Amino acid sequence: MRRASSAGTPRPRSGQPEQLGFAGMPERLFTCTPSKLGAYADCPRRYRYAYLDRPAPPKGPPWAHNSLGASVHTALKNWYALPADRRRPEALPALLKGTWVREGYRDDEQERAAYQRALGWLEGYVATLDPGDDPLGVERVVAVKTAVLAFNGRADRIDSRPGPDGPELVIVDYKTGRTGLDADDARGSQALALYAYAAERTFRRPCRRVELHHLPTGTVAGHDHSEESLARQLSRAEDTARDIMAAERSVTDGADPDEAFPTVAGPRCGWCDYRRTCPVGAQTPGREPWSAIDRPAAPVAD
Ligand code: SF4
Repeated sequence: MRRASSAGTPRPRSGQPEQLGFAGMPERLFTCTPSKLGAYADCPRRYRYAYLDRPAPPKGPPWAHNSLGASVHTALKNWYALPADRRRPEALPALLKGTWVREGYRDDEQERAAYQRALGWLEGYVATLDPGDDPLGVERVVAVKTAVLAFNGRADRIDSRPGPDGPELVIVDYKTGRTGLDADDARGSQALALYAYAAERTFRRPCRRVELHHLPTGTVAGHDHSEESLARQLSRAEDTARDIMAAERSVTDGADPDEAFPTVAGPRCGWCDYRRTCPVGAQTPGREPWSAIDRPAAPVAD
């Protein structure tokens, strides 16, 4: 089993020599997506494996629940690419089949059952949509720079809905995991808050509402942010970015990468792509790539 420290020493992200700083010189921005920040917040070692170590440690096999989530997301993206008069439930089987991701399933039988389940979710979900409504963005990249971050991310959907003072934007995130979601999940999601913050600046329109659309249960968990709550989430994201940059600098200055990017053991280790590389993960029983599909509770796929 390969030890964590043998996976290659982290280097500065750019691969370029670090520039010497001088007083008053602006700090370089930390380029990030929600997944990058989330990886470090969950486990700094996982962040290191995913974003720093080169050559990158091998990942485990693809997960069936990720395949299922990706297939449903792409089908919904392609739904909106159809002309409004063709957005009918009969279009769904072809949309889903056309971009179905087959990886990770135990066998054909499980995969077929997952396809039928996904089709049922999509049929239930599109019945709640007005086919004539065109979102402002579908899988739309939004980006913003702050004093610390150069943030970019791809929102599943950005709606424009009437508000008291004109159109307001709403961030919509599709979820396909087996676990239900509630308003606390929407309120606490740093990713959704960062999308809202970035969308407001990208489109120069208010964007305070964020929603998790959970297809398996047909429920919507929403939260209306205030300027202050968005600022708090942004500030937390900037703190995480500062921590990451400090850890990277310490390694550049000679610190032990294993200490700069410690492991955080937990239930997620069984689902970690780097379980075979990580010394903690290696002690954790792994999950089968398909086990989340049949379990009553499973990781929430994007
Ligand atoms: S197995 Fe666990 S401790 Fe190791 S990198 Fe993955 S999440 Fe972190």
